[in-house]
Amino acid sequence: MVGDDQDWGEHAACRAADPDELFVEGAAQNKAKVICTGCPVRTECLAHALDLRIEHGIWGGMTERERRALLRRRPLVTSWRRLLEAARSEHEQTPGAEDGQWGATG
Ligand code: SF4
Repeated sequence: MVGDDQDWGEHAACRAADPDELFVEGAAQNKAKVICTGCPVRTECLAHALDLRIEHGIWGGMTERERRALLRRRPLVTSWRRLLEAARSEHEQTPGAEDGQWGATG
């Protein structure tokens, strides 16, 4: 894990990017989320947005529409952070698994 609850943003791949690039509308979001590919804090970022129900922008490689759909599919999840970190740990312990993200969000 790159950081704790407070400092994951320091490792964000988008840290030097123009924030407006991640808060675009419609089809431009699919282009904008490419910056998240390979981001070392993608799990933390996505969990943050899901747990806080952040509605706008690209977070963790997912558009707002994708996050809304995920929240609808899994209404009983109380901590996305715990769920995503557990999934990542499980993935990392899988023989042959690549380092990095667990990749379940596309
Ligand atoms: S996952 Fe994307 S939006 Fe989140 S910190 Fe990384 S680059 Fe930024």
